[in-house]
Amino acid sequence: VISVSHLSKSFGDHHVLRDIDFTVNKGEVVCIIGSSGSGKSTLLRCLNLLEQPSGGEIYYKGQSILQDKHNLQEYCTKMGMVFQQFNLFNNHNVLNNCLIGQTTVLKRSKEEATNVTMKYLDVVGMSQYINAKPSQLSGGQKQRVAIARALSMEPDVILFDEPTSALDPEMVGEVLKVMKDLAETGLTMLVVTHEMGFAREVADRVVFMDQGVIVEEGTPEEIFENPKEGRTKEFLKRV
Ligand code: ATP
Ligand code: MG
Repeated sequence: VISVSHLSKSFGDHHVLRDIDFTVNKGEVVCIIGSSGSGKSTLLRCLNLLEQPSGGEIYYKGQSILQDKHNLQEYCTKMGMVFQQFNLFNNHNVLNNCLIGQTTVLKRSKEEATNVTMKYLDVVGMSQYINAKPSQLSGGQKQRVAIARALSMEPDVILFDEPTSALDPEMVGEVLKVMKDLAETGLTMLVVTHEMGFAREVADRVVFMDQGVIVEEGTPEEIFENPKEGRTKEFLKRV
């Protein structure tokens, strides 16, 4: 679905990403692991164009995105995003949080958007809460709403940036459970995570990043049981 070739990103003379090459195939769950500051969030932000890459190319369904700007809009609607801090609109209730993108960006009617939303709120177990404001929800509930909002856009890929890192420990499980169920439905997911158990159990492929480069990638068995690179071994010892 997406492939990235020689992608780089600098902030001034700080090279945060260098020569990143990788592919996410349809239906795959790819987990990105790596220490703080290794460039994981920046990579996701380049993929959904919240940051402008400094170099390289992104291909979506084989078509260039950065060179060929007319694919850009469609591409952006096809990349869903779930953030660490939920990024819900606090002044809107759960239903509206899920409707806004659909009615403004996808031009769905309110009725259609509501039907789609109810389907995905049900998937994440939050359909009882359509009238609640984010402030009335727990962190785990907020994140499940954020996932339903991303699903409601019916993207080709959902990018998750440490979706459980801001949660109290007792709420991590409910969010990981939803993500695991989604993975089993064949959703294409690219997940930055510190949850090694999740990566081991759910990922089809694990990518280890360090200092702005992909050091190593492979199946969970390859990365966790039999890492090839010294830096991967060091990292896994620490987590
Ligand atoms: P963490 O696990 O802590 O979330 P990360 O792997 O997601 O880390 P990034 O947030 O991508 O790391 O940051 C990589 C590097 O890029 C860091 O050194 C950070 O300071 C730098 N950086 C990120 N965004 C910016 C920005 N907007 N301006 C300048 N530097 C930035
Ligand atoms: Mg990050």
